[in-house]
Amino acid sequence: MKNNPFIKIRQISLKMEFILLAIFSGCGSAIPDFDEQNAFSLLEQQCDFGPRNPGSTGYFNCRQFLIDKFSATADTVLLNQFLLTNPVSGEEYNLTNIIGRFNPEADKSLLIGAHWDTRPWADRDPDPARRNEPILGANDGASGVAVILEIARILQDQPPEWRIELVLFDGEDMGISGDMRSYARGSLAFARDLPIPKPDAAIIIDMIGDAELSIPVERFSMEQNPQLVKDLLKLARKLNLPAFESRIANAVFDDHIPLWEEAQIPAVDLIDFYYPNRYHNFWHTHQDVPANCSAKSLDQVGTLLVNYIYGIQEE
Ligand SMILES: [Zn+2]
Repeated sequence: MKNNPFIKIRQISLKMEFILLAIFSGCGSAIPDFDEQNAFSLLEQQCDFGPRNPGSTGYFNCRQFLIDKFSATADTVLLNQFLLTNPVSGEEYNLTNIIGRFNPEADKSLLIGAHWDTRPWADRDPDPARRNEPILGANDGASGVAVILEIARILQDQPPEWRIELVLFDGEDMGISGDMRSYARGSLAFARDLPIPKPDAAIIIDMIGDAELSIPVERFSMEQNPQLVKDLLKLARKLNLPAFESRIANAVFDDHIPLWEEAQIPAVDLIDFYYPNRYHNFWHTHQDVPANCSAKSLDQVGTLLVNYIYGIQEE
């Protein structure tokens, strides 16, 4: 019976049926869908807490909300704490980077990060009387976190092949204008402590909810990890995501810098610095609200990242 040719043919045809079934049902290359409405709702839910600057009520409520979200989705949740002094009031805060780990035993790894704190001052607001009030940070804070929380849901639903760490950095936006080293303090603390095994690469997302989304290549990213920049651009073109542009523009001091300088994690930053465009700027003003953001923009960034995570095995 072992060498019966008829049985062999039957086995081959069964195998073919299985392959065809896999192709038609899509389970051969299932890349999950990024739910833009869910992501936008996550942006609004953060803004519903009000400003999330360190020490505020919104800060503590949102901190719990984020820990709960990762507790419901990640394999492990880590809290990485550090101290930071408010450069204006002199108040000292105990701040928290929130880390969600997925498939932590895998060899290859990627970190995706965004800052969750919001700026304590609207120092670029056109109204001088309101410049001391904290901003809502729909784009500058909530947008990157919203995309990460939606990715957390997807990673729980369909475990990735790689080790993925999602990191919500604190203390990014309490810097003094003009003194770049006073920004990105959560990623500095994280890179110094390195509470997880060093990831192979990192992608930071910041200010990616702008309704008029445009993400050129950030200059430091090109220096720190040119291959990752090229891979993401190539993928964006393949997926027909028009926000991603191949021109190099701006050098932005963001959370990707301390990751590279302190821990040699080759990190890139996806950021739309012109919010909404070159002629107006809602950045660090009271116009940084959900109405100036869009689900479609979150979708472009989320779709790119999900395809990158789940397309890795194709390469
Ligand atoms: Zn900011």
